[in-house]
Amino acid sequence: MKKTIMVDMDEVITEGGFLHLINDFAGTNYTRDDIKDYYMQDLVSDKMAFFKYYVTKNQYNYCRLLPDVVEVLKYLQEFFDIYIATAYVINEIPRECGINLVQKYEYLYDNLPFISPQNYIFINNKELLNCDIKIDDCLDNLKNARIKLLFTSYHNNDLSDEYLGSLGVIRVNSWLEIKDILMKEVSDEGCSSKK
Ligand SMILES: [Mg+2]
Repeated sequence: MKKTIMVDMDEVITEGGFLHLINDFAGTNYTRDDIKDYYMQDLVSDKMAFFKYYVTKNQYNYCRLLPDVVEVLKYLQEFFDIYIATAYVINEIPRECGINLVQKYEYLYDNLPFISPQNYIFINNKELLNCDIKIDDCLDNLKNARIKLLFTSYHNNDLSDEYLGSLGVIRVNSWLEIKDILMKEVSDEGCSSKK
């Protein structure tokens, strides 16, 4: 049986759309280096006004895919069962957030056509998922996996390798690095099953 991988969507498969909307709304030029906390919306002073604007837009019209993500996921699919797990509820506007489901679904469908929509999981508490491997930019979302890969992002740069090591977490900076780690896993498995 193939091992399962949970892959996060925002900041791992794609990035940039939410920050684009913040800059568009506020007339600012923030870059990722300006963000210190996980929630980018803390950059704007009138959060509720921003969210009113946000729900009229689709952030995925303004985002980009991370380098190599499509090629690597396509490659890994031969060896693993890949699930995309992505949160969709913004706490400040829970009633309006349903639209995120459609936007995320369509983006994944259009950009990763080789992954079945049946493998999309829309969930905020990813700890509930029991996968062999988890790839996420948020530390809490890596719980309940044997191999935990933290994708480097603006809000987790400060976490030391020592601290991550104490949690059994490996930092990854690119999809090519992920490919190397997981293909090593495949070859090690192959060796142990032949013993
Ligand atoms: Mg994320």
